[in-house]
Amino acid sequence: CGIIARIGADDAFPRVLTGLENLEYRGYDSAGVALQNGSGLSVFKCSGKVEDLKDRVDGAKLGGNIGIGHTRWSTHGPPSDSNAHPHTNEDGDVAVVHNGIIENHQILRERLENRGVRFESDTDTEVIPHLIDAHYDENTDPRDAFVATLRDLEGSYAVAAVFDDEDAVFAARRGSPLVLGLGESQYFLASDVPAFLEYTDRVVYFEDGDVVTVRPNGAQVTTMDGEHVEREIETVDWDP
Ligand code: GLU
Repeated sequence: CGIIARIGADDAFPRVLTGLENLEYRGYDSAGVALQNGSGLSVFKCSGKVEDLKDRVDGAKLGGNIGIGHTRWSTHGPPSDSNAHPHTNEDGDVAVVHNGIIENHQILRERLENRGVRFESDTDTEVIPHLIDAHYDENTDPRDAFVATLRDLEGSYAVAAVFDDEDAVFAARRGSPLVLGLGESQYFLASDVPAFLEYTDRVVYFEDGDVVTVRPNGAQVTTMDGEHVEREIETVDWDP
């Protein structure tokens, strides 16, 4: 029900957690994070509250300048640790958070399972990291693999993906909200502005069909066909 992503120079984890807490008002049944620290992805997730997630993480070293987080409002599959987001491919080198519903998930899942892919959850969302993995083999460019996956999807999404070896967050929206926050030497993506409001009030609202690549030095927006899109930077006036 809420997504947050943060990319910048220093540790992402505290800001991703703050983002999740700020999104609690939307209601949710599970929470999770994935952090990328240059050498791999660490994923922590559970059913319950952000507070439970903190207990789960307790003591673990969650370094990394890129992080994504999710609060889930289940639509496909009951609340459980394995159904919580982020979801990954089998090798754990791509992690995905998603708001919305993938309407054609059943057929996509069958197709992937017929190729030998093993699923770990009952969610509609889990097809996304496996599809990215499949397209990545063919393409070798992570953004292309992400866009090729979006083309496979029917339904609604705000989605964000991180790779273990790519200094970027890839995101897109169709039918679910997604907003970029431009901080000082850090960027945020979220389903709603309050997620990152203590860090910045400069935002860009995306439109359906926008594909966003956020790197530590900037964000780029294109259509699904790769055409460059300009979106206005707005300053939000939001009473805390
Ligand atoms: N349909 C997805 C699920 O059930 C995402 C739900 C959400 O938007 O939180 O896991």
